[in-house]
Amino acid sequence: MTDSTKQYAVQKSDAEWKAQLSPAEFHVLRKAGTERPFVGEYTDTKTVGVYKCRACDAELFRSETKFDSHCGWPSFYAPLAEDRVEYIEDSTLGMKRVEVRCANCGSHLGHVFEGEGYGTPTDQRYCINSISLTLAPA
Ligand SMILES: [Zn+2]
Repeated sequence: MTDSTKQYAVQKSDAEWKAQLSPAEFHVLRKAGTERPFVGEYTDTKTVGVYKCRACDAELFRSETKFDSHCGWPSFYAPLAEDRVEYIEDSTLGMKRVEVRCANCGSHLGHVFEGEGYGTPTDQRYCINSISLTLAPA
């Protein structure tokens, strides 16, 4: 499913991203890193608003779909719209997971899991790094 020739609406070189992002943001967004659990700034945030991609400002998630998963990362049960994100099969760490990326710039956001029994409308958990997001309060 990964297509290295894919063009995004926002397309930048590593050097351009490094100039724009902090080293920690670059590591997660552009190198598919993972923030440590329970340290992200939005883990327990209840503020009403829209979460945007920290790399390109595309609107990705609404606070209304954020729920308490107690997993240590901000968790949403659905994206703002299906076309805002893209899904990539990820088999690193010996696990079959589905990576979630920003569809506008290709930056790594986190992973999506389903069937965990959280009782949300979709039974999905978009487990997203705080550092991949910027909250715009409503
Ligand atoms: Zn983006």
